[in-house]
Amino acid sequence: MARDYGLKGQAAIVTGSTSGIGHALARSLALEGVDVVLNGLGDPVQIEAERAELAAETGVRVHYHGADMTHPVEVAEMVGFAQAEFGRLDILVNNAGIQHVAAVEDFPPEKWDQIIAINLSSAFHATRAAVPIMKAQGRGRIVNLASAHGLVASPFKSAYVAAKHGVVGFTKSVALELVRTNITVNAICPGYVRTPLVEAQIADQAKTRGIPEARVLDEVILAAQPNKRFVEYDELAGLLLYLVSDLGASATGAAFSLDGGWTAT
Ligand code: NAD
Repeated sequence: MARDYGLKGQAAIVTGSTSGIGHALARSLALEGVDVVLNGLGDPVQIEAERAELAAETGVRVHYHGADMTHPVEVAEMVGFAQAEFGRLDILVNNAGIQHVAAVEDFPPEKWDQIIAINLSSAFHATRAAVPIMKAQGRGRIVNLASAHGLVASPFKSAYVAAKHGVVGFTKSVALELVRTNITVNAICPGYVRTPLVEAQIADQAKTRGIPEARVLDEVILAAQPNKRFVEYDELAGLLLYLVSDLGASATGAAFSLDGGWTAT
């Protein structure tokens, strides 16, 4: 029998949910009866089609806010938008993220700034705006998409690894601040998930390392992951639903690895 997570009627924001993991997580919440604000970049016509499809499939209210995660004011506006539309905000999933693969001496400074802004600072700006709403409601759930790279490093990913380690530290600090408020803050640290972000890396790694793409998959991407397979969207959704439900009430300030044994090595 399917579990009822008791989330019906709650409201959520999932940043970076026009693609990949964010899209899958937003859908998993909507299927549990949670109203959702989608966010992310992309073709407006396609985004609107996906928004309407998700609303029709799940019967919940699905809105889209186009906040650019590099602009703190827009991030705060997105949080205000969710509260205005739904009259509440129960769940914030800070998921938006980008990657750039290059040796540190070749790493473009503007790429570094962009990665820190999108992958780390946007989680701060969204959390900062969401916490007063959650405090007033007496309950909240904040889930940050970090990465195995929030716990361990790989070469040529200095900005990403720095940002993701930052996300894990930010998660712990804010969790402790809020520990008596019934608001939990956790990080999910996936290994590789086959999304557009990873597809792009396969090509980038091939160029940086000077090897064919087939070898990158075998020797670079899944080399780190002992179970030798990608993490599935449903596996991420299962952890998210646990964390945002009452089952997850004692989980706070934690970084949950879903990485096929990567960080155990
Ligand atoms: P993706 O490229 O498929 O999706 C990224 C999303 O972020 C898209 O919706 C994109 O529009 C959005 N985004 C990018 N820049 C933005 C900006 N300036 N403003 C607003 N939105 C913006 O990537 P994904 O693989 O689904 O990654 C999602 C998250 O999971 C990221 O934080 C990533 O670091 C993390 N992660 C991914 C993997 C993986 O293997 N795919 C592993 C570990 C962690």
